[in-house]
Amino acid sequence: MTNSFHPPKRILLGPGPSDVSPRVLEAMARPTIGHLDPLFVSMMDEVKSLLQYALRTSNRLTLPVSAPGSAGMETCFVNLIEPGDQVIVCQNGVFGGRMKENVERCGATPIMVNDDWGDPVDPNKLEDALKSNPEARLVAFVQAETSTGAESDTQTLVEIAHRHDCLVIVDAVTALGGTPIETDKWSIDAIYSGSQKCLSCTPGLSPVSFSDAAIDRIQKRQHKVQSWFLDLNLVMGYWGGGAKRAYHHTAPINALYGLHESLVILQEEGLENAWERHQRNHEALRDGLEAMGLSFAVHPDYRLPQLNAVQIPDGIDEARVRMDLLKEYGIEIGAGLGPMAGKIWRIGLMGYASNARNVYTLLGALENTLAMQGYSLKHGASFTAAHAAYEASA
Ligand code: PLP
Repeated sequence: MTNSFHPPKRILLGPGPSDVSPRVLEAMARPTIGHLDPLFVSMMDEVKSLLQYALRTSNRLTLPVSAPGSAGMETCFVNLIEPGDQVIVCQNGVFGGRMKENVERCGATPIMVNDDWGDPVDPNKLEDALKSNPEARLVAFVQAETSTGAESDTQTLVEIAHRHDCLVIVDAVTALGGTPIETDKWSIDAIYSGSQKCLSCTPGLSPVSFSDAAIDRIQKRQHKVQSWFLDLNLVMGYWGGGAKRAYHHTAPINALYGLHESLVILQEEGLENAWERHQRNHEALRDGLEAMGLSFAVHPDYRLPQLNAVQIPDGIDEARVRMDLLKEYGIEIGAGLGPMAGKIWRIGLMGYASNARNVYTLLGALENTLAMQGYSLKHGASFTAAHAAYEASA
């Protein structure tokens, strides 16, 4: 007979999922009610306004897609692209590559603006690409590249794209809740995120939001959206229908309780306070790691506080470090991807997991793990440095 599954308690300090708040898990265990129950419908309205708060937008088309961040990505692309379009995709890591795939699968042509992994998207290269491709209708890029830990300047990139009459899709999967996003102030047309990173919720939901200009483009489409499930014209009937909601699909009811709770927690803390907390914990971790002799892969000017790309010292078996951390301390950190595989660790301090206790726990565990491989360090120096960083920011 197969037994129930009882996962261990880990400390999730990788690129996501991150630790889920116990309040969220408790909310998800509440009784399931019908997805058209008036009480559920009013909770959906609250989810929408909480998402508007988190994304800093008054966009009426703001909702969580019932699937993970990749589905939010696909929702933006399939609704805004028509076959034959030219789309500028800025790539500086793994997820820009996924955007390219999406554009191709929509029957459109991607025009790539490439930057080195670990660098932000270069606004000058975007401007050049727009000048050389006046037919382009859309620009897409990732604000917080989870594969490298680099942040791009969304405000500047959107402003350039708009000067060339393009709408803009922004990937905010890792950004939302950890680093500033101003959907309305920066005039972002379409934005998508994920529940499992800085929102401290379980994986499986993807907040999205669309400006009036984006809705206008969707409503004037010549071709049907090729995906029935992600067609916003249909989804709007359920999420935007007020009291008269039409059945589209069965909402993931308990998952939405969880998202609701995670957004309530975010609102209680205050968005700016959450951004500051991510920055404070990043600085303590950074100082602790540097006191250990480790260095960062990304320049400080565009380093994400919630995703720390740390260079692997010579002679260290990086996979063994990750396995020791997991087995001995219950801590998960991430490996590098693509060209960064074997060169970096990705240490996430996201959402509920971004706290001083996790910073100290990881520093101690990493000191021991590295020392076991003969890495030379002064035991305790990382704690002193992290502590000094916290004192300085108090
Ligand atoms: N975009 C970015 C920047 C991500 O980091 C991720 C996931 O890590 C995704 C998209 C895809 O999200 P999901 O894995 O929830 O489908």
